[in-house]
Amino acid sequence: MRKLASIQMIKSLEAIEGADAIEKATVLGWQLVVKKDEFKAGDLCVYCEIDSLMPDRPEFEFLKSRGMRIKTIRLRGQISQGICFPLSILPDGVALEENIDCTDILGITKYEPPVPACLSGIMKGRFPSFIPKTDETRVQVLQQLLSKYKGERCYISEKLDGSSATFYVNNHEFGVCSRNMELLEDDTNSFWKVARQMDIENKLMRLNGNYALQGELIGEGIQGNKLRIKGQTVRFFNIFDIDRFEYLSLDRFIKICQQLELPMVPILTADYHLADDIDSIVQMSMIRSALRPDTWAEGIVIRPLTETIDLLLSNENFNNGRVTFKVINPEFLLKYGE
Ligand code: ATP
Ligand code: MN
Repeated sequence: MRKLASIQMIKSLEAIEGADAIEKATVLGWQLVVKKDEFKAGDLCVYCEIDSLMPDRPEFEFLKSRGMRIKTIRLRGQISQGICFPLSILPDGVALEENIDCTDILGITKYEPPVPACLSGIMKGRFPSFIPKTDETRVQVLQQLLSKYKGERCYISEKLDGSSATFYVNNHEFGVCSRNMELLEDDTNSFWKVARQMDIENKLMRLNGNYALQGELIGEGIQGNKLRIKGQTVRFFNIFDIDRFEYLSLDRFIKICQQLELPMVPILTADYHLADDIDSIVQMSMIRSALRPDTWAEGIVIRPLTETIDLLLSNENFNNGRVTFKVINPEFLLKYGE
């Protein structure tokens, strides 16, 4: 799980045009509004990320009208993501060192949107251990990674706001999984319905091997269907070779999707040279959807063109050490109240 709250240093403070009671702070790669003079650059604070659900305590009372949830907001034109609290909100005995995880210490939990009935499904078993679950880390906590991979040639895909779907064939057996479990076949369940509708079992069998295809289930009834897709469909973002326990590179993935006539997530570019500047990367995420140009995209996902596993980083709340990360469009979060 993501570190929702941790001890962090205020990297810098800057004035906000036309505002004298507040200023802009940078913490990790996040920008947020703080009260003027509450902190100095270099101070430690307890930084709580967006999606934190704060416990019912007097210090957090001001969040009651927002359901105790920390969301992206805009103040005096400045986008603000997360909240800095003074270290004094911590109980006695906590080591006051940078990066200490305070999520459990403070009783903070993560906001999760409700799951509609068509997605819940009946569990067949745990998520298969021979396939990695899908996940993406936020760029705002990855400065180290950006510094290390600066200049690396990457591709950028559009992040779609749906529900993670995994389909696999392993030893001639076909399986369908939601984000965290394998599902029993059932014609009221969207994952299975779409699998049958898109003929995914037969298509996977044509690969003559053990592979998993992973994508985002989008459309009617899912996450408000912001892109107003007709029906439901899956757009794929991974193909995983189960026997070799590795993802295939983008070029092979594209060829296989073409061959099987399966749609991918929109590939926005395959020639991006990674910058080591979080602000500029967040700017790049503030785009409209390639699937519906009048609607904000949820964000982007950036990966090196050659699949890369970095064991150095596998300890940093990272996805099996795979170099890949997401950038959520702040305008999308503002628009949809997240
Ligand atoms: P948190 O930020 O708290 O970890 P989360 O784990 O729910 O939140 P999401 O915001 O859902 O994460 O982001 C990760 C998910 O994004 C992946 O599991 C995948 O289902 C989905 N996704 C959508 N589009 C893409 C894409 N283009 N590439 C990769 N993953 C994508
Ligand atoms: Mn995650």
